[in-house]
Amino acid sequence: MSTAPINTAHEVSSLLAQLGVDRGAYEGGTLTVRSPIDGAVIGQLKETTPAEATAAIGRAHDAFLAWREVPAPRRGELVRLFGEELRAHKEPLGRLVTLEAGKIVQEGLGEVQEMIDICDYAVGLSRQLYGLTIATERPGHVMRETWHPLGVVGIISAFNFPVAVWSWNAALAFVCGDACVWKPSEKTPLTALATQALFEKAAAKFGGVPAGLSALLIGERPIGEALVDDVRVPLVSATGSTRMGREVGPRLAKRFARALLELGGNNGMIVAPSADLDLAVRAILFAAVGTAGQRCTSLRRLFVHDSVYDALVGRLKRAYGSVPIGSPLEAGTLVGPLIDGAAFDMMQKSLGAAREAGGQVQGGERVLAERFPEAFYVRPALVEMPAQAEVVCHETFAPILYVLRYQDLAEAIRLHNAVPQGLSSSIFTTDLREAETFLSAAGSDCGIVNVNIGPSGAEIGGAFGGEKETGGGRESGSDSWRAYMRRATNTVNYSRALPLAQGIKFEVDA
Ligand code: NAD
Repeated sequence: MSTAPINTAHEVSSLLAQLGVDRGAYEGGTLTVRSPIDGAVIGQLKETTPAEATAAIGRAHDAFLAWREVPAPRRGELVRLFGEELRAHKEPLGRLVTLEAGKIVQEGLGEVQEMIDICDYAVGLSRQLYGLTIATERPGHVMRETWHPLGVVGIISAFNFPVAVWSWNAALAFVCGDACVWKPSEKTPLTALATQALFEKAAAKFGGVPAGLSALLIGERPIGEALVDDVRVPLVSATGSTRMGREVGPRLAKRFARALLELGGNNGMIVAPSADLDLAVRAILFAAVGTAGQRCTSLRRLFVHDSVYDALVGRLKRAYGSVPIGSPLEAGTLVGPLIDGAAFDMMQKSLGAAREAGGQVQGGERVLAERFPEAFYVRPALVEMPAQAEVVCHETFAPILYVLRYQDLAEAIRLHNAVPQGLSSSIFTTDLREAETFLSAAGSDCGIVNVNIGPSGAEIGGAFGGEKETGGGRESGSDSWRAYMRRATNTVNYSRALPLAQGIKFEVDA
């Protein structure tokens, strides 16, 4: 593997220039952004003030009033043009994701591909926003439902999918006739600047996009709160920790706004006696150590049947010992850095708690500290646990995989569901009865339930989200678009009488 010197700051400026972002947007400000690759400062952004946020939301609201009257397939054309910009800039934007979020180049490119996929999906959707015609009990009447644009959609995103999460929301919201105001993570605002620049290019090609249809708020939590509290924002889609959701959810409820919450996961996998272990090992590695364990869908809990435990865990231990860790820019690296020192500290704290609860820890130590003294690389940790202790029930946003042994499937499913989170889950089995049990009402209680693939790496065609402390939101595919529209039920009387529903008689002489 090459270990050529890296100048992250220089590379970031050159990528931002290719992506159409002016230097002024990321120099001289108060928000410092560091690359997790080497800890170097790669941006100093000017933060949005509360007054600027209020003004941006006002402009977005005005833009919405005009945009909602543009026919939906025409709105789709804007998203199609934006998808074209993403195709043309996939390499630089993907690489910028790597430099700012630390995921390996393959995953950075994959993140941009996911943006392209959701744009394609939204373009088709722009011709399929449909309502029902419903049978009515009254003669000479029709009843149907219509779907209308909702308003300004607030989007709050996390560092680990710095651009894809915005696109899952925004591509749908734009075809649904909404405006979007985006508060990206304070750790990854540069990729947001680049995405906004590409959007503006597409808007210029489209011609006539109302000014302010897509806006960006740069800053930390307070500016997110300003978005959450603004009455002109009827829906906030917020992705991040459960802690954030606990704050945002009640604030939105207080003003009767809609909340689409995509919060933490603590995803499990069951490996049954009949599992194809070759597939299982590959799936476990991608899901548990990929993105350095920093996906909401990362595999964190592995339940292995007693009969295959030694064979599977032996193979995992070997793989964990040799998985290539290094700069995510270098070919061959599979595990890049943690986002920052706080993430490293949290990981060490959880490993300490696991040891205290009787866990046998392999890995977890800091590596490459000499080459990258300001960055945090770790060897992924495999932790054999005697029981599902408290620490296992928390999401630690780092590559820790807790492994537990089970004897029968009912016990494994009970343990699997006995955590507060409910995002993603999977079972490896070639036994139809076991697979269908896991998928059934009495099986996994998560929003995503897979068979013979890992819990991470969802496609955009399905609805994405989870239950319990994961927040209950659904975004991306299936009928998730409905969250970005308001539904009106219409009853039209085309008769010459006025029959009332439920047969009520209410006659007046007039
Ligand atoms: P975080 O909660 O620290 O921050 C997420 C975003 O919320 C940031 O933009 C932050 O500024 C903002 N924020 C925080 N508190 C806020 C408040 N009170 N009001 C308004 N905005 C606020 O999360 P993170 O560390 O960036 O990301 C990791 C977490 O995100 C993990 O828990 C992970 O599981 C979760 N995540 C979930 C999904 C999902 O789809 N379920 C996807 C990605 C990440």
